[in-house]
Amino acid sequence: MPTSGGLHKAVREGSKIGCTAIQVFTNSPQQWAAKAITCDAVSALALALEETGIERRHLVSHDSYLINLCAPDLEKREQSRQGMIREILRCNELGIPWVVSHVGAHMSQGEEAGMKAAAESLLQVLAETPDFVTVLMETTAGQGSSLNYRFDQMATMFELLGNHPRVGVCLDTCHIFAAGYDIRTPEAYSATFAEWDRLVGREKIKVLHVNDSKKALGTRVDRHNHLGEGEIGETAFRCLVHDPLFEETPMVVETPDAVPMHQANVTKLWHWASEASPL
Ligand SMILES: [Zn+2]
Repeated sequence: MPTSGGLHKAVREGSKIGCTAIQVFTNSPQQWAAKAITCDAVSALALALEETGIERRHLVSHDSYLINLCAPDLEKREQSRQGMIREILRCNELGIPWVVSHVGAHMSQGEEAGMKAAAESLLQVLAETPDFVTVLMETTAGQGSSLNYRFDQMATMFELLGNHPRVGVCLDTCHIFAAGYDIRTPEAYSATFAEWDRLVGREKIKVLHVNDSKKALGTRVDRHNHLGEGEIGETAFRCLVHDPLFEETPMVVETPDAVPMHQANVTKLWHWASEASPL
């Protein structure tokens, strides 16, 4: 949700359009400089949650686009670690339990070196931040040299992180599809999640990004589309809202034109949830 006017506005506006989970940026995602969180902002957010009935465990933050925890330039890598630490500290102050992170892109280093560097950075960030906040590594489309676009890579990351208890996954349907994982039919959906379960485990998924894709299967290009209007199509989303393993998992739409389209996309999800399961 857009946050102009404060995070409490994002919660209140989200509630009005049918959301029971809210994702925000706690700071402008395109810049390092950040304003301090004020007591007023903390209490306004708490009041908005109380009045809308939206639960804290359904509040999600997305980290800055500038962060690359495995940047080959060590100065940039350190800047990224510090940026991530500040993001987690802001979430801790605000009471936001989840921070979604793209972790990084290996650039010229190769996947293996990139993953090692990213894991090392993340462990350092976790050691310097409070336990309240959990970092969710997002599945990516594999655009450029982005890490975590294959399920086996995600499994390797968890190994490198020693299965740290403060790390989970945010699975993005547009990204896994662009990375080559089909979910367009109930059979394809089940096969893809069986593969995920075999390699990573369903319990690691704490948040879902529910987006259709403008680009075809396996193109590794990340372009979000409105639900049911892209290359994925509505059957995948019907499966998702009826999957008993995701009954308690917050689902977030990150589609274009927040106003008025978030309302339209959220309404579709509630509608599909009220109909029969295709699974
Ligand atoms: Zn996403």
